[in-house]
Amino acid sequence: MGVKVLKFGGSSVADGIQLAKTRKIIEADPERRYVIVSAPGKRFDADNKVTDLLYLCKTHMEQNLPYEQVFQVVADRFNAIMMNLSVHVGLQSRFEEIRAEMEKGCTADYIASRGEYLTAILVAAYMGYDFVDTAGLILFDKKGRLLAEETNEALAEELAKHEHAVIPGFYGTDKETGAIRTFSRGGSDITGALVARAVQADIYENWTDVSGFLMADPRIVKNPKPIDRISYKELRELSYMGASVLHEDAIYPCRQANIPINIRNTNIPEDPGTVITAQEETSDKVVTGIAGSKDFTVIAMYKNRLGGERGFLRKILNILEEDFDLGVEHIPTGIDTVSVVLSNKAMDGRLDEIVEEFNARLKPDHIETFENIALIATVGYGMSRSVGVSAKLFTALADAEVNIRMIDQGSSEMNIIVGVENKDFDVAIRAIYDAFE
Ligand code: ASP
Repeated sequence: MGVKVLKFGGSSVADGIQLAKTRKIIEADPERRYVIVSAPGKRFDADNKVTDLLYLCKTHMEQNLPYEQVFQVVADRFNAIMMNLSVHVGLQSRFEEIRAEMEKGCTADYIASRGEYLTAILVAAYMGYDFVDTAGLILFDKKGRLLAEETNEALAEELAKHEHAVIPGFYGTDKETGAIRTFSRGGSDITGALVARAVQADIYENWTDVSGFLMADPRIVKNPKPIDRISYKELRELSYMGASVLHEDAIYPCRQANIPINIRNTNIPEDPGTVITAQEETSDKVVTGIAGSKDFTVIAMYKNRLGGERGFLRKILNILEEDFDLGVEHIPTGIDTVSVVLSNKAMDGRLDEIVEEFNARLKPDHIETFENIALIATVGYGMSRSVGVSAKLFTALADAEVNIRMIDQGSSEMNIIVGVENKDFDVAIRAIYDAFE
């Protein structure tokens, strides 16, 4: 018999109704043996996520404000779920244990992790599965970096003792001090991937509130087609540009162990969702997806005989790294020109300073800056074996009267990235989508 690992996100465990759906999904397949849960998310738009409330307790603690009322909202949510599902698991003593830690001035990581901790205890009781805590199994070093191999061994050894288990997402412990450490927000996806790797799962099912990835953002393109299959590499190109269904650090452990990830919808379990695999050629489509992000700046430098100058790029990167602690998104080059594309957010209002530094240390003949640039990535393995993809893409943008400010194509020919003005972002995405679909 195979083994499936399932992770349920905040909306799938938000209340008793959602948890009843979750249980049905788990019980529909005997291979579904290991279940990772997030903390309860929003039940409606104006609702609060339990994790946000827990972080709020910590903020209150820091400001010397009473936090008990906020924590009581959290406790009430768990009490309501237990009542709705008729689960009696005595969370009261756990609440007391958490209150005592808060009194002692616990860390933000500790308090934030308690949402997943309580949920996993509750769901384990509801399912009749073992509760397996990740404290002491998912291990971090002093700097909060995951110790991947030690974690893999510890999880594999522990889970081998459990036929079925419910496991809290989002946290583990500092290997040396034993203190609770969390991943970044959305990190339960990573826990799921680590468990999938440790038990050598046949598939990692990530259950959420959408039926997988769509070819483009539905707020921009009307009814975009779903993506049935996508490779890890293609997804990296798309997630880097802003698609946010799955935490990007969840991909690596599965990729390493060659485990496909299936994104599924708890509210429409019959939808097959998106399968993410190592296989590069996932479909006969030319374009798998289109994604983008606004608010970048291009700094373009011109210098006569730049092509013959040694170390120009290195100097640019040194200035950005050492003086401004900035990474570069793209570096389009010409014979006597180099441009750097930087994210406005990371630049944080320092454009003038950067230009000043470039002028002083690189002595270009001319520098021009273009603010408010959006980057759009058109991604697909099929592009490398088809003729005329760029022609089609650029014709579509020209027909839509979009001015292209920058072009970058990776040597893998798996993506074409164009820079357009922020104001043309939506029009450009729609034009590209329509051209390929
Ligand atoms: N509960 C955590 C968060 O809201 C982790 C997760 O849901 O994956 O970020």
